Amino acid sequence: MIGRLAPPWDRLLLDARLATLRDDLGAYGAIEEAALAWKDGLIAWAGPRAELPGAPAQLAARVDSAQGRWITPGLVDCHTHLVFGGDRAVEFERRLQGASYEQIAREGGGIVSTVRATRGLDEDALLAASLPRARALRADGVTSIEIKSGYGLDFDNERKMLRVARQLGEKLGLTVRTTYLAAHALPPEYAGRPDAYIDAVIEWLPRLQAEGLVDAVDAFCEGIGFSPAQTRRVFDAARALGLPVKLHADQLSDLGGAALTAEFGGLSADHIEWTGDDAVRAMAAAGTVAVLLPGAFHVLRETKLPPIAALREHAVPMAIATDLNPGTSPLQSLRLAMSLACTHFKLTPEEALRGATVHAARAPACTTVAGCCPASAPTSCSGTSPTRPNWPTGWAARPPIPCTSPAAASATEVSFAGNDEAPPRRGFVQARRDARLLGGSGLLGRSLLGRGLGSGDRSLHGGGLHGRRLLDGLRTGIAVAAGETLALGGLLVAPTHGDSLESDVR
Ligand SMILES: [Zn+2]
Repeated sequence: MIGRLAPPWDRLLLDARLATLRDDLGAYGAIEEAALAWKDGLIAWAGPRAELPGAPAQLAARVDSAQGRWITPGLVDCHTHLVFGGDRAVEFERRLQGASYEQIAREGGGIVSTVRATRGLDEDALLAASLPRARALRADGVTSIEIKSGYGLDFDNERKMLRVARQLGEKLGLTVRTTYLAAHALPPEYAGRPDAYIDAVIEWLPRLQAEGLVDAVDAFCEGIGFSPAQTRRVFDAARALGLPVKLHADQLSDLGGAALTAEFGGLSADHIEWTGDDAVRAMAAAGTVAVLLPGAFHVLRETKLPPIAALREHAVPMAIATDLNPGTSPLQSLRLAMSLACTHFKLTPEEALRGATVHAARAPACTTVAGCCPASAPTSCSGTSPTRPNWPTGWAARPPIPCTSPAAASATEVSFAGNDEAPPRRGFVQARRDARLLGGSGLLGRSLLGRGLGSGDRSLHGGGLHGRRLLDGLRTGIAVAAGETLALGGLLVAPTHGDSLESDVR
């Protein structure tokens, strides 16, 4: 072996179909007959197989076939409230009997009832209550999650929520971005004194930021929440600390929330059912993402649609999220949210896929997307792979596809999950703390090939211009700026129709 050069890559995946979501490559940014290569846990090459710089066997220590499966970026849930205590099942019945969200809130239900339940749990109990929800999202193909506080509404309990959010990311190998949402509702102890409460919200913020618990700042700007003037005070405080802002804006009425967010160069304006054309133009100019939350729209049986046509006209990026919360959107599937966005908001499946990946990654300043979901064996099952890369949208009720088990993922010799020798394994990719990600919390999932997918490493091996451009497409698809180096995230691989549905999600 002396003198013989090792192949440049660790693994090479052939016979893949890539949905890069690059604008200049047509629908879905699709590449048929694609190849994807890894080196040291980093994507080293991606592009048309015909442009590989040599024979596969000389290029990688191991060559596998994706057997024609579609590969998309991992999903990003960019708006969740998944850390909470209790439930609000009774409200669903109340609403079906005719009570409005505002009525329920004014009767002491709604957000404040969740605050009571959340305050009643210590940190361990709150973590235990929240873990199954994060696992459900993870099992659904989500690799990065934005998690908000906002059910504590005092310093200790907001802190507790944010600490639990961080722990969820660490425990489950997910990239988590935390958002400080103390301006979510007025706690009972501040009844009648909203401005005094905003003073407190502003006073807590730097202390929590100093603990590394805050990635962004949010507020509920609404008649039953906080006024635009109060929201502006919170935003001013965030800006002074260098923190990005986002907003629950124009959900039940048009208070100018989206325009206010744009004025602050906010990451995203979320809900925005009542947002007008002028605000949409302001969002476009500011680069503010429109986060659509069809789960809340569905559960609240809203009829006022967000301004989809205007968003398209002004090329405002549309993201989709679950808004996972105990009251208005107890949705634990981002793919279901994608499907609802298609049926309720008339998004195209391609818009939905972009909305849950490339655009979603911008909303929480989520610079990295970890993980992947390898497909399972087509040969031992009855079906074939989906023929279009819209499978996450179209198969709303179907769980995603087997991920390599943590044990398998740690072994470099793990085979592509789902060939004949290695039956599909389930579980989820583990974060690689040592991954060479630049910036952010640096979580990186181990890939379907047993190694991490993606990185901030800009040095590419071979590939030529086309490969580089494609790789950049994949990379920017799931990466964002916010002062951090671009980093590639995880990928999802389409299931086959015959995949079994069992799951051993931990
Ligand atoms: Zn929300």
